[in-house]
Amino acid sequence: MLETLHRIVQAVNGASDFEEALELIVERVAEATSADVCSVYLLEPEAAQLRLVATQGLYSEAVGRVRLALDEGLVGLVAQREESINLENADRHPRFRYFPETGEERFHSFLGVPIIHYQSRLGVLVVQRRVGDRFNDAEVAFLVTMAAQLAGVMAHARVRGDLAAAVGDLPGQALGLTGIGGSSGVAMGEGFVVSHHADLDGVPDRPAQSPTREIAEFRAAVDGVRADLELLAERMRDQLPDGEQLLFDVYLRMLDGDSLTRGVCERIEDGHWAPFALRRTIAEQVRRFEAMEDAYLRERASDVRDMGRRLLARLLSVESDQARLPEQAILVGEELSASQLAEIPPERLAGVVSAGGSANSHIAILARALGVPAVMGVRELPVHGLHGRALILDGYRGRVEVDPAEPLRAEYARLQREEAELTAELSELTGLPARTPDGAEIQLYVNTGLAAEINPALEIGCDGVGLHRTEFPFMMGDRFPGEEEQAVLYREVLAAFAPLPVTLRTLDVGGDKPLPYFPTHDENPFLGWRGVRMTLDHPEIFLTQLRAMLRASVGLDNLRLMFPMVTRLEEAEQAKALVMRACEELAEEGVAVTRPLIGAMVEVPAAVYQAESLARRLDFLSVGSNDLAQYLLAVDRNNSRVASLYDELHPAVLRAVNEVAQAGQRVGCPVSVCGSMAGEPGVAPLLLAMGMEGLSMSSGRLLRVKWVLRTLSAAECRSLLDEALACETPEAVKALITVALERHGLGGLIRAGRH
Ligand code: PEP
Ligand code: MG
Repeated sequence: MLETLHRIVQAVNGASDFEEALELIVERVAEATSADVCSVYLLEPEAAQLRLVATQGLYSEAVGRVRLALDEGLVGLVAQREESINLENADRHPRFRYFPETGEERFHSFLGVPIIHYQSRLGVLVVQRRVGDRFNDAEVAFLVTMAAQLAGVMAHARVRGDLAAAVGDLPGQALGLTGIGGSSGVAMGEGFVVSHHADLDGVPDRPAQSPTREIAEFRAAVDGVRADLELLAERMRDQLPDGEQLLFDVYLRMLDGDSLTRGVCERIEDGHWAPFALRRTIAEQVRRFEAMEDAYLRERASDVRDMGRRLLARLLSVESDQARLPEQAILVGEELSASQLAEIPPERLAGVVSAGGSANSHIAILARALGVPAVMGVRELPVHGLHGRALILDGYRGRVEVDPAEPLRAEYARLQREEAELTAELSELTGLPARTPDGAEIQLYVNTGLAAEINPALEIGCDGVGLHRTEFPFMMGDRFPGEEEQAVLYREVLAAFAPLPVTLRTLDVGGDKPLPYFPTHDENPFLGWRGVRMTLDHPEIFLTQLRAMLRASVGLDNLRLMFPMVTRLEEAEQAKALVMRACEELAEEGVAVTRPLIGAMVEVPAAVYQAESLARRLDFLSVGSNDLAQYLLAVDRNNSRVASLYDELHPAVLRAVNEVAQAGQRVGCPVSVCGSMAGEPGVAPLLLAMGMEGLSMSSGRLLRVKWVLRTLSAAECRSLLDEALACETPEAVKALITVALERHGLGGLIRAGRH
């Protein structure tokens, strides 16, 4: 049964449109259940009606014509009750309703199961047989499983189908899609699908006219693409920091690698024309990457596909996309690559939206570095239907609005205007302390990680760096960076902010940040070998990094060192001992190092309950609320299925963070917050009231937070915190915060969401 199930789902997944998907479903399910009839009824929510959309066994004229309300017929009953109904003699049931156009009277046994996707009813799947026997248990179980699996596929196909239908001369149909915020901000522009003419999957098989000529043409295409890439890399040199430039090297190596050229040439010699030889070779390589266990390497499959499209475009001399580039382009793709992003001149790139990926994909990281709004992981994104369409991206909430209706468009335009005004107004706060009207003060630090994040932070003014994520250069390269290489990068950030403190976090890979050259093969990466667990197991890697950090700080002495993912006291102790060892070694080598302040992140529940013990052993603690909320709520926020359950205002999260602040105060150890909650203007007053020493956030959030803190008094913040800690739901906390900010005319600040 499992095998049959798989085969059906795969076939449906491969359907070219929604209609074909429905036909495949009824045909294959009827066959698998040996039923005389299989039909799909879809719910039309506006009309609260179920419509017969596909059938095998009933008269085909009935398709599209038979409609029934939810309180009508057996099919209506299945949808209404949201459970299956299995009958021997359907026609004897009081809810049976006869539709003469179906020819249904011949079929007596009836099994209907609801098709439900994320709590929403999509329709009903029905099988019927002539003979009057109930369907047996195994058959019912099969159909229920089938319907559950098909629900996702159908929801996906339907959204894509709806959109595809709206393309062309038909008036645009407004549609909202949800993904994950990859880079904050609002973008309004026109959808732009790169090289959508060069559709590899659509290349037909043809015989090679002259293999020698085809091979020569393919080699010329490789040369052409190489030249394009070199040009792009050159163009991006000023736009992107050095680390990110490495991506182009990866592309060029892939292009020059033996397996691509050999694969294509061999196929041409076997008699296929070059475009098809390319299609097959790319598909083979993509499959190889996709089968890899490591998530990072799996993601490289999209780079291979991108390379394939570029080569095809060259082979077929497809006209350059640049000529059709809109003024405000919103780059749309299944899985976008860095080079596709680079292809759009920055002054025309308004936003990025991708069907795949997460907040930690390269493209999201790059979008953040370039300050361009991005929405990732929009699983139902109808990519090809979006070329040339009016789009709004809400990078705060991870929303994409297609052909938005006028009121929505006006609302976002207003939001954009307000943001611009607010930004201008907020610039007056540059250089002022984050001090409440009644004199309470808190440090406002920035989070950095890419070289491109340094200047904006310096421009708006801050009290230092509360979290410098060191993993990006490790993730972008194809080997561990050496001590000298790292020291140069760390020196850059330490020197830029000196004499202000800079907190360098030691390597935090694993989880959602895999290294291409060091696969961890964790079944469950978030509960696996990540952060300090990994670096403690590899002192040679850890010591190289620690030495680089210490050396980078010589003469500046503004380094603070912080360990990620600490769960046990020994981990903090061992890591600290390694720092001491690195200091001693360097001193022996004649390097004038000073012992830095040493701290740990509190980002797993275990560390919350041992915060006091950690605080006694270390110089500071910093709450990593992103991971802490993820582990407390058991929600992977990069998983769009459950991302809506991720909520930093969940009372459990607030109480845990407060617990850490209290523990720090008991032993006189400063505690700060460096997860994204620190950059939420509505949450900052609560964190101040908890007694946090500092808040560390992306520089874009800093002035907003400062504004709130300079407006609300510490006494108000404290009573707000008391009330928030007594709340039982995130919604209650949110309502409380909104009222408090609106009282001061700051309601606009909390409309913009995370990051
Ligand atoms: C956190 O977990 O809150 C944090 C700041 O670390 P990262 O987002 O890099 O995991
Ligand atoms: Mg973390």
